Amino acid sequence: MSLVVQKFGGTSVADAERIRNVARRIVDTYNDGNAVVAVVSAMGKRTDELLALAADVSDKSHPRELDMLLTAGERVTMALVAMAIEDLGVRATSLTGSQAGILTTDRHGAAEIVEIRADRVRAALDQDMVTIIAGFQGVNPDSKDVTTLGRGGSDATAVALAAALDADLCEIYTDVDGVFSADPRAVPAAHKIDEVTFEEMLELASAGAGVLMPRSVEFGRRFNVPIHVRSSFHAGEGTWVKEETMEEAVVRGIAHDSSEAKITVHGVPDTPGVAATLFEPLASAGVNVDMIVQNVSHDGTTDISFTVPDTLLEAGTKIARDVAEGVGAGGVAVDTEIAKVSIVGIGMKTESGVAARMFRILADHGINIEMISTSPIRISCVVRGDQVGEAVQALHTGLGLDGGVDA
Ligand code: ASP
Ligand code: MG
Repeated sequence: MSLVVQKFGGTSVADAERIRNVARRIVDTYNDGNAVVAVVSAMGKRTDELLALAADVSDKSHPRELDMLLTAGERVTMALVAMAIEDLGVRATSLTGSQAGILTTDRHGAAEIVEIRADRVRAALDQDMVTIIAGFQGVNPDSKDVTTLGRGGSDATAVALAAALDADLCEIYTDVDGVFSADPRAVPAAHKIDEVTFEEMLELASAGAGVLMPRSVEFGRRFNVPIHVRSSFHAGEGTWVKEETMEEAVVRGIAHDSSEAKITVHGVPDTPGVAATLFEPLASAGVNVDMIVQNVSHDGTTDISFTVPDTLLEAGTKIARDVAEGVGAGGVAVDTEIAKVSIVGIGMKTESGVAARMFRILADHGINIEMISTSPIRISCVVRGDQVGEAVQALHTGLGLDGGVDA
């Protein structure tokens, strides 16, 4: 008998009929002789609605209460799915993250799973029950308060549970057929990827491919849990995320992200310690910086530019202004009209010249590159926001991905 963890995203459980469909899927897996743990998201856009409701009631920050509110979304789904399963003649029980023993750090809204005490889940499985678990949430063992794991966090719940229970497989059911070579809304010729390594998926997810939360891929990699991303609307194969793939693509996929902004501090004195003076307070305030570029000028000053998520722009700008004043810099400029395009492939480790090909393709389309960053298997460029669609399309074609075969 196998143990399968299945996760169903918001669109898959958006209404009563879809919830009954999900229940049928779970029961089919169970009737095939598997033990099943299902992790569910809030119905449809419920999390967004709850966030909007909170903003309507108060314009202040209430981290603990906001988490209490948001965890309710997943709780609604888990109970409804359990009811629908029982109606199909299979015993089911639902558990909140806290009841399932998901222990997290105390950072409300962005808590990290530190341990899973899955006794209660195991006990339910021992009694031959299907267990439905509310995704995206846990509890901090010190404060005893419920926490949420950040947007898309049900993916992390599912993969972490699969690791803790030593499951054979983690299936992520979603509203698309799998992971694509680029966002199909930007590139009509984008194709479903059959297999992708954990390392590649981590890069793609961090670079803006929305289909999996990056942290879930980290769990998959760390505990070697194969993840199957597939459609909840049909039975076809999706994308397998695993340690190794049959073939090592030079470019497996392209991701883009328009949700970052650029902050530039002009005329910074070019002396040791200035970068640390700027980035230390950003780090302590939890403003995660993505790309950094420093230009040296002739008069002994430099310009430092960096990108931050749009959501942290206000906090980041305020800190940059304070630091700029403190070190006698020229000033701070903010640019929200940027976007990042990234190409990812494990074969880049051994193939040279990939960056040059990327830059040539962008140049031939008159797209200016404003910042560049790389990892051994990724190259990212910041471009003007209104050119990012063209950039993704041009790279997909130019790097040979249109035909459905990896470059
Ligand atoms: N419901 C949460 C969200 O919308 C968590 C999830 O769906 O994974 O972000
Ligand atoms: Mg998701």
